[in-house]
Amino acid sequence: MAKVGLREWMALAPVFASGKLARYSDESGGPLARFEADFCTKFGVQHALTMSSGTGALISALVAAGVGPGDEVLVPAYTWIATAAAPLAAGAVPVLVDIDHTLTMDPQDILRKITPQTKAIIPVHMSNMVCDMDSIMRIARESNLIVIEDACQAVGLRYKTRRVGTIGDFGAFSFNQFKNINCGEGGAVVTDDARLFARARMYHDIGSMFRGHHDNASEPPMLGVNFKANQIQGAILNVQLKKLDPMIARMRERYNVMREIFAKNTRLTVGPHNDVGNAAGFHVIFETSEEAKRFAEESKRGVYRLFDSSRHVYTNWQPILQQRTGHPAMNPFLWTDRKIDYAPETCAQTLDILKRTCRISLGENYPVALVAYLARRMSKQAKSIPTNLFYATI
Ligand SMILES: *Cc1c(COP(=O)(O)O)cnc(C)c1O
Repeated sequence: MAKVGLREWMALAPVFASGKLARYSDESGGPLARFEADFCTKFGVQHALTMSSGTGALISALVAAGVGPGDEVLVPAYTWIATAAAPLAAGAVPVLVDIDHTLTMDPQDILRKITPQTKAIIPVHMSNMVCDMDSIMRIARESNLIVIEDACQAVGLRYKTRRVGTIGDFGAFSFNQFKNINCGEGGAVVTDDARLFARARMYHDIGSMFRGHHDNASEPPMLGVNFKANQIQGAILNVQLKKLDPMIARMRERYNVMREIFAKNTRLTVGPHNDVGNAAGFHVIFETSEEAKRFAEESKRGVYRLFDSSRHVYTNWQPILQQRTGHPAMNPFLWTDRKIDYAPETCAQTLDILKRTCRISLGENYPVALVAYLARRMSKQAKSIPTNLFYATI
């Protein structure tokens, strides 16, 4: 996470002095318009729109793309619950796809989960681990599916030469406090398609037919909600954006140090990555869940077993598992032509991987020497875990 401090604080003064805090109170577009222009340049994408959250960005993208009742949307079984909740907000239903050892959607399982009702895929770049976008885009093109990348947890990361979020039809980003850059709460949607962009912008602002967006004159106004961002968020994000690439560079340097140290350890496997040259997230995989559990318990801060990051595991998404919505009649599960099932064994491969995998923080704000010292200590500790541990399933 990029730190929020004095420079963000100073960037707020002119916004307060102007009194123009709302998205559309500043004729010039204000800090938000500046942020969106810089984001487009840095990310190499045509259109960007800041929003009140990453969830709002996902929902707006789905609605803009025409996803709705009767449609199935493929989402990974390991992600923040917002990814699976977004299709429901658009009237569609999420279908769970297993992850593989890269902690992202398993392309093989995507192929197994596609039905005639599948309309879109939301691949999630999880904890700065990027998806296998070549395979996903190939499958999507062959099956005529829309791709909305959820890059909320990987803002700025690259897959090969491109930034994640700019490869699919849409990309969604989050700027909440736990993400790579943040303004407390916030998000953005990006696309290269002018028409899709106009629709997402209309949806995020109850139709926005009063805003003078002449570029969407040919798009009939449609109803929407209010996911607008404010200029305070814009001012903070302008400062944060400058910190993004230096922070990712620090993460990658530490990733390489850690990988070299753990690669010599035969008790565990260093987690694979879909683009190891750009890797900025580190995980290790044990043979048994008991070893992973023990390793996480014995490590000091900065290590956790993925299965224990409970809310990111589909078996804990109660409102979705129980298929319960605000009003019983406004329930997208009533609008599908087959019964959608979220039984615990739906994604057994995902549970098995999460139980055996620990994530280790890269310590991007620590000196490299300290990171190397901690990694050596952790690696030694992993070696000392007894091998004859009881084969527990949890
Ligand atoms: C954070 C996050 C979101 C939603 O972001 P908010 O800004 O909190 O709404 C969506 N998907 C993933 C994978 C996330 O981590």
